[in-house]
Amino acid sequence: MVVAVDGLAGAGKSTVARAVAAALGCPYLDTGAFYRAVTLAVVRAGADAASEQAVLQVTAAACLDYAAGAMLLDGEDVSEAVRTPEVGALVSAVSAFPEVRRLVVERQRDWVEEHGGRVVVEGRDIGTVVFPEAAVKVFLTASAAARARRRVADAEAAGQTLQDVEDHLRARDHADSTRAASPLRSAADAVTIDTTDLTVAQVVAVILGLIAEAEGDAGR
Ligand code: C5P
Repeated sequence: MVVAVDGLAGAGKSTVARAVAAALGCPYLDTGAFYRAVTLAVVRAGADAASEQAVLQVTAAACLDYAAGAMLLDGEDVSEAVRTPEVGALVSAVSAFPEVRRLVVERQRDWVEEHGGRVVVEGRDIGTVVFPEAAVKVFLTASAAARARRRVADAEAAGQTLQDVEDHLRARDHADSTRAASPLRSAADAVTIDTTDLTVAQVVAVILGLIAEAEGDAGR
C-alpha cells in the first residue's frame, strides 16, 4: 500500500510523511531528494542545467539511492549537500525535463518495489503520476507566510530573510505548477489538508485516519 503525500514547498510534507511512516513502521521515500541529487550532480559536473541533453546525460550516469533517511549519490551521503540555496535555485528547472523525470520516476518505482510496496512516498506528482493507484493520497497546503516561517531557521543561517524565503517558495511552486511534465497539482481523488493552523500531530492523525479507512475498505 502506497501512501502518497504531495503538496506545496514548505507545507510540512517531509515532517508529516516521516511521522506517518514511523507510526506505520514502514519506510519513507523523499522523492524531492532525488531531483536535488540530480541537480547536485549537474552542478558538480559543471554541466549546463538549462540543457536537457546535458542534464539527461548526468542523470543516466548517476547512481541514486535512498537509505535510512539519507540520499545517496554514487554511494555518497549527499543529504546535506542537496539542501544548499544553489541546488534549491536550480532544482525546479532540472526536474522540469520530461526525460529526466522518466529516469528518476523509474528509479523511485523500483525503490518502492524493493522495499516491499508498503511505503509513504513524499513529492509533487506521486498521486498523479508515480503511483496513481496509491491507496491514500493527500495534498498538503499552507499559506505562503506560514510556509516561509517554517523554513526560515535554515535560511537565516544561510543569510536569507523571511521575505527571501517566501519569494523563493512562491517561485518554486509557480515553476513546479506550470511546467508541462507532471506539474504539481492535487490528484482528483486526493484529500487536501491545509496545515496553516494545524500541528504536525493533528495532520498525522488525519492521515492515519484515512489510512485506517482505506485498509478497512480493502479488508471488506
Ligand atoms: O521536496 P523538495 O522541496 O525537496 O523538492 C525539490 C524540487 O524537486 C521541487 O521544487 C520540484 O521541482 C522537484 N520535485 C518534483 N517531483 C517530485 C518531488 C520534487 O518535480 N516528486
